[in-house]
Amino acid sequence: MQPIPYFQFRDFPRGLEAQVQQALLDAVAGKQYVLGPQVQAFETEFAAFLGAGNAIGVGNGYDALVILLKALGVGAGDEVVVPANTFIATVNAVLQVGAMPVLAEPDVHTYNFTAESAAQYITPKTKAIIAVHLYGQVCDMDALQQLAQERNVFLLEDAAQAHGARYKNQFAGSFGHGAAFSFYPTKNLGALGDAGAVVSSHIDIADFARKYRNYGEAQKYSSEQVGINSRLDELQAAVLRVKLRHLQAMNSERQRLAEVYLQNLSQIGDLILPASAPHCGHVYHIFNIRTKHRNELQAWLRKQDVATAIHYPLPVHLQPAYTSLGYQPGDFPVAEELASTSLSLPLFPGLTKHEQQRVIAAIKQFYSTKH
Ligand SMILES: *Cc1c(COP(=O)(O)O)cnc(C)c1O
Repeated sequence: MQPIPYFQFRDFPRGLEAQVQQALLDAVAGKQYVLGPQVQAFETEFAAFLGAGNAIGVGNGYDALVILLKALGVGAGDEVVVPANTFIATVNAVLQVGAMPVLAEPDVHTYNFTAESAAQYITPKTKAIIAVHLYGQVCDMDALQQLAQERNVFLLEDAAQAHGARYKNQFAGSFGHGAAFSFYPTKNLGALGDAGAVVSSHIDIADFARKYRNYGEAQKYSSEQVGINSRLDELQAAVLRVKLRHLQAMNSERQRLAEVYLQNLSQIGDLILPASAPHCGHVYHIFNIRTKHRNELQAWLRKQDVATAIHYPLPVHLQPAYTSLGYQPGDFPVAEELASTSLSLPLFPGLTKHEQQRVIAAIKQFYSTKH
């Protein structure tokens, strides 16, 4: 039997690969390779898609976070509240600008950052809070917007896993003062290499980002600030323009596959399936299940040639690189519990019915024979 990959690039919707290849050939023929017409068009199209004022193409999702924090003037002496269960980029970006990341416990059901939790970590030094739409489910943005307003802090979104996800009919990335997107190849909207975007409806933030990503240049060879080089590549922008047109179809397919898992895996052993919060759309960047037999289940699936992944095996506060933050094991029981019980199942556009049924059968077999 063919191994089932955790993730694989497939031609979905059919013909996408040919369209991407053609777009690349056209962009090469255009002979403008940096900040050319493809980047400009993608920025316009992505902002329009999201219903946000501006999108600025940058090198990757991490840079997008750093640039947003810089744009808000976050730096030494400031605190930024971020969820304890996120990809380390969110925390790293805060450290990069010289500020202090303050970790917050996630909600035990949605695994997301909540206003209720964030509020407990806000101090007079807090300059911003970063909502991470984890696994593709949007955070409860009404509550977070209200909190940010009441406590006079900036609200940023790490939307790297939530392209096209909606909260009350509004897209993730259009709620905060600004949002960071990653177009890392495996994301719901992925390039063929590294890429990212800053999104903001605030013109001063957008203007800052547009200059900062290109050495602070307002015009050629005239820098208004000390910036960096984090430009979105022209070829990647050409690819992203094609894929953006299919984003809703790809997300719908992810949601359909998730529905199949949800229906077939309910009431099995101690499995906890992803929960949807009211109004919080989910685009299933990751389909995360939980069980106290996680390691055993993963090993069993591996033996059946089913690949899985773990997001994330070690919470940020327990990673060796972040011991200087001063946290101890036990400081974030929910985040630690998630790290030791979470397992991500294969879910990507193009996963076949047969493959998904094999994943489901293997999990059922695990529980019928062992637990
Ligand atoms: C992928 C990801 C990032 C970082 O994006 P890169 O493009 O890899 O720098 C940041 N935050 C979250 C939540 C992510 O999933």
